[in-house]
Amino acid sequence: MDYNNFIDNEISEFKEKGFSRTFTPIYRYKDSFPFSKVEFEIKKSVSQLFPDQNTQIWCSNDYLNMSHNPEVIDRMISVIKEVGTGSGGTRNISGTTPYHNELEKKLAAFHEREKALVFTSAYVANQSTISTLCKRIKNIHVFSDELNHASLIEGIQNSKASYSIFKHNNLSHLEDLLKSYDYDQPKIIIFESLYSMDGTETNVSEYVKLAKKYNALTYLDEVHAVGLYGKGGRGVAHKYKVSDKVDIINGTLAKGFGQIGGYIVGNRNLIEFIRCFTSGFIFTTSIMPSVAAATSKSIELVEKSDDLRKNIFSKAKYFRTKLKNLGVPFIDSDSHIIPLLVNDTEKAKAFSKELLKKHNCYVQPIFYPTVPKNSARLRITITPKHSYSDIDNLLEAIQDIWFKSKKRKVKTTFNSVAI
Ligand code: PLP
Repeated sequence: MDYNNFIDNEISEFKEKGFSRTFTPIYRYKDSFPFSKVEFEIKKSVSQLFPDQNTQIWCSNDYLNMSHNPEVIDRMISVIKEVGTGSGGTRNISGTTPYHNELEKKLAAFHEREKALVFTSAYVANQSTISTLCKRIKNIHVFSDELNHASLIEGIQNSKASYSIFKHNNLSHLEDLLKSYDYDQPKIIIFESLYSMDGTETNVSEYVKLAKKYNALTYLDEVHAVGLYGKGGRGVAHKYKVSDKVDIINGTLAKGFGQIGGYIVGNRNLIEFIRCFTSGFIFTTSIMPSVAAATSKSIELVEKSDDLRKNIFSKAKYFRTKLKNLGVPFIDSDSHIIPLLVNDTEKAKAFSKELLKKHNCYVQPIFYPTVPKNSARLRITITPKHSYSDIDNLLEAIQDIWFKSKKRKVKTTFNSVAI
């Protein structure tokens, strides 16, 4: 086999289909955010305040700006000064520190569950926990929402368990599928509480009821909800008062908490089962102690941050109202995520490029395979550090690019946001 030829062909085909993604290097300076510096800054004149940092970031998942929080930063630095940077090993071999243990206790308490287990990312947590569960429980059948995240799908597919896909957030379709399996056959429903590309929230209590009725386990990804929804940011399951009835809840340390890493929480026995059998937990170096400590600090702050949550949701509402007035199509919800529907991949890339070049607003275009074909979008997230006047500026920019493009054909030759 000519390996080089094979690899070249695969890449060319991927690019020809328009799937190729460009990574844009950004300095998200803590003191000026959302004003940031994009490595290839084109215009340097827009912001007088931060002359060299004149691009506003509108697609960050550091939802509560916790990665820039001074107390979190101080905690991280002080732990680095105390014990250095790397953890020095896997959890099994010298990589468990009091900071890891403290974090797991805090996460379990935060979700009001017995036990938590920290992984190197929520991706790894999903993929490895699900594949372990579904391999070990013989003859289990999986029910998976059609818009589930890649990490959940990987976990299901790696387990080689049989699965059915239910229509997005469609409980009656899910029930129809559940009905067709024996009550005694092991089953698991895998879903998310807040779908990040659409902003749809799931009624977790209804899923829990179905699971009970049909004797199924539940696995809930709360990655985009933790920190923002429910009392103290405890998530959507908590908001519906069923956090203790979901078998496994998954979350990230990287979005609402602003660090890096992922976790699962649940009852003691089930978490112990995952700890014993999951290679993606045990055979990899644990997260940096300083990250664990900084996340513990972040959790303490997030719990008390009702003001930040209110701030985000009222700004998101303001933005939606204005978008409606402008007539720009978007997926409506009450969430903090506002996806503008462009639908055409090349057009979404061109819009993104124009927003950046002309208006100094950075919004990464999202397209297939991240979202279904013909549903390319610009996914906007507003954080506490975005002001109302920043939002007004973004709206003006959107109006400019969106409606101008109706009059003149949008150039579709840009491959992506080129550097
Ligand atoms: N689950 C969902 C729904 C996600 O969107 C993501 C990432 O964005 C993950 C899991 C993975 O999270 P992490 O970045 O911690 O790996």
